[in-house]
Amino acid sequence: MTNENTNNQPIGIFGGTFNPIHNGHLRLALELYERLDLAEVRLIPSANPPHRKQPSVSSQHRLEMVQAAIAGVEGLSVDDRELRRLGLSYTVDTLSSLGKDYPQSPLCLILGMDAFLGLPQWYQWERLITLAHLLVVRRPNSLLSEKHTMYDFWKAHQASSPDDFKQQIAGTIWLEEIPALTISATQIRRIIAAGKNPRYLLPEAVLAIINTNPLYR
Ligand code: ATP
Repeated sequence: MTNENTNNQPIGIFGGTFNPIHNGHLRLALELYERLDLAEVRLIPSANPPHRKQPSVSSQHRLEMVQAAIAGVEGLSVDDRELRRLGLSYTVDTLSSLGKDYPQSPLCLILGMDAFLGLPQWYQWERLITLAHLLVVRRPNSLLSEKHTMYDFWKAHQASSPDDFKQQIAGTIWLEEIPALTISATQIRRIIAAGKNPRYLLPEAVLAIINTNPLYR
């Protein structure tokens, strides 16, 4: 466990295929930035996610859509390191590369509860907590059952408050309750493929890129 003292605000790390990025992703990122006093939330588009098939749209277009979505928004940034790396996009490699770039900054990996419960399937998953804190987002009224295999892992690393993220650069887990917008990229791709209008589910600037290219037809 890492226990260097730090006064820095943590950097939130939010990975995804962002195929396309939508208002569900963006609201979550912004809420976490504001509620947890993060230095920023870095959105990291995944090139070759190990757990799912290759995204239908190129890395370049997915990156362009994230850039357009967050342009001028304080607290959100985009990081293309996974797109520049060859091979599968393992989160453990991403965190270790970020740790080299920001050695004094606490990192916090943003995960939905589903992803957290599935962590044992991830490559070298036990190293993740040595490289970052885990910021697990749970839906209102959803609890982590004592029966779940990840319960003990959570208890062993449980933060007493999100301020613990500022005391060390990695090693704790905080569960934050956030109501999610019921939007998914799958739903948006289906709407477009059916020739309908996905407006208001995603930023206008992202929709403009989708329409110009055109994507998801
Ligand atoms: P798809 O429908 O293609 O599976 P998605 O909309 O779930 O895509 P991803 O890029 O796979 O988007 O998601 C990246 C991260 O964003 C994941 O951790 C996922 O849990 C989270 N996320 C996705 N949709 C929402 C939403 N509506 N609100 C909050 N978080 C979301």
